[in-house]
Amino acid sequence: MQILYITSLTVSQYIEQRAWEQAKLDHCPFHPEGGCGLAKHGTYPRKFPEYCLIPRWYCPKARRSISLLPDFFACRFPGTLNEVEEVVNTAESYPNREQAAAMLRPEITLVSALRWLRRRIKHVFEILTTVKGMVGTTCPPVLTWWRKQYATKNLLQHLRILVADHLHAFSPILGLAPRSVSRYFTKPPSNNQWGLSASF
Ligand SMILES: [Zn+2]
Repeated sequence: MQILYITSLTVSQYIEQRAWEQAKLDHCPFHPEGGCGLAKHGTYPRKFPEYCLIPRWYCPKARRSISLLPDFFACRFPGTLNEVEEVVNTAESYPNREQAAAMLRPEITLVSALRWLRRRIKHVFEILTTVKGMVGTTCPPVLTWWRKQYATKNLLQHLRILVADHLHAFSPILGLAPRSVSRYFTKPPSNNQWGLSASF
């Protein structure tokens, strides 16, 4: 199981500070009442964009491991959410995907570059479409539009925290590993079925 680790750090700061060493899991997500023997269970590595570690715990009663995924990392996808976002944002500034793909990945064939780009565009489109349904906005699922409205160049990370209680509804890269307790920290206000509202 993965739980969102809201760090307020960049990936560089996470590595510099070795933040995985300070990460704490106050209680077991399966047994909030305690008494299950939850214990630290080492780490596992992420190798991109730079080598770092993800802290892990183990609940012997549930026989499950629990890892804290830093909020900036994509889930089941290499790199960070912001790296994906920057690619899609750049692509939206080109008249077509072929030109964008050729510029973004000149070192590989156009076919491979297009496949690489399409995967990222698909992920972002699905995220924006799902959040659009949750917050009840009529805005189109276009990244540049959403970035402007939320006044951030780190939109995906912002949305991940906004919808943190509902990450089970998202595919990778925003959502967490299957059968997760999506959020460990706080709850958003409940003002509609999703507990979310459009901020624009
Ligand atoms: Zn437990």
